[in-house]
Amino acid sequence: MIRASDIEQAAEVLRAGGLVALPTETVYGLGADAENPAAVARVYSAKGRPPTHPLIVHLAGAEHLDSWADGVPDAARLLAERFWPGPLTLVLRRGSRVPLEATGGLETVALRVPNHPVALELLKVFGGGVAAPSANRFGSVSPTTADHVRAELGDAVDFILDGGPCEVGVESTIVDATGDTLSILRPGGVTRESLEEALGFPLAVPEASPVRVPGQHPSHYAPRARVVLVEPDEVVAEAARAQDQGHQVGVFLPPAFADAPVKAHAVVRVPDSDATYAHRLYGYLRELDEQGCDLIIASLPTEAGLGLAIANRLRRAAGPRDAG
Ligand code: AMP
Ligand code: MG
Repeated sequence: MIRASDIEQAAEVLRAGGLVALPTETVYGLGADAENPAAVARVYSAKGRPPTHPLIVHLAGAEHLDSWADGVPDAARLLAERFWPGPLTLVLRRGSRVPLEATGGLETVALRVPNHPVALELLKVFGGGVAAPSANRFGSVSPTTADHVRAELGDAVDFILDGGPCEVGVESTIVDATGDTLSILRPGGVTRESLEEALGFPLAVPEASPVRVPGQHPSHYAPRARVVLVEPDEVVAEAARAQDQGHQVGVFLPPAFADAPVKAHAVVRVPDSDATYAHRLYGYLRELDEQGCDLIIASLPTEAGLGLAIANRLRRAAGPRDAG
């Protein structure tokens, strides 16, 4: 249980330029005072994240929008009112109080109001903006429990607020509202369908983002095991073949094949509900790593609703492992 004194202490750490791991409804964040460039620099070094990759600034409520962003378009304001607090990040023109260190040098800023009682209370008590990327080493799987944060970052964090497992389980949807038209830079916890319904017009989802978006790095969200994607009806045969070749195979068994006999080292039965799947996804990847799998065979869900974000993360987990 989190006590008021824990929140006070965490706010004090932020004021002193320290790092606080905080629970949100998406994943755990590694937070610093967004207006303190030295504190923000510590976030980058703790994560091993290149300094050109911008952070999301977390706010206590939509009423703070205009103090952190300039020239907020009506459509962005509508989305903030409709979806905040919630798993939606808006990219807007940077307000003057946002240091360039927090935006990776960009003239734009990513803002979000998280829907988690602990995060909201911390933001309220702290009073400022908290710059927070996911609380994991750069490129690896985002943490959805406080234990994941301890395992990934340990001593690099000054204070960890344990708010239990994250409800949504995948990162926020990022909407770019800096151009003439809105577009989705990264699919996430708010579905494309619900955004379009609120706006009354369709949203573009560019294949490769024109803006530099760290979440779009090919090998982002990757476990240690290599991830291979196949068609749902090939998962069982592919797993058996790789296991026979001497791999320690972890299988993501699609719901339609839940009862099929499987030859593998470890099996994850993919839930029927995309909400449950998103909630468990990163935990599954970590568990298969812990069980010693060196290869994960999975397939993509239908890319509608939360399935769009799940498929995006699986593709990136399966992406080429280069220098990042
Ligand atoms: P992470 O929580 O590690 O996924 O990092 C925060 C996310 O916010 C990254 O995926 C960034 O791409 C995104 N982001 C932050 N600021 C901007 C910005 N100004 N333009 C585009 N994306 C941004
Ligand atoms: Mg991340």
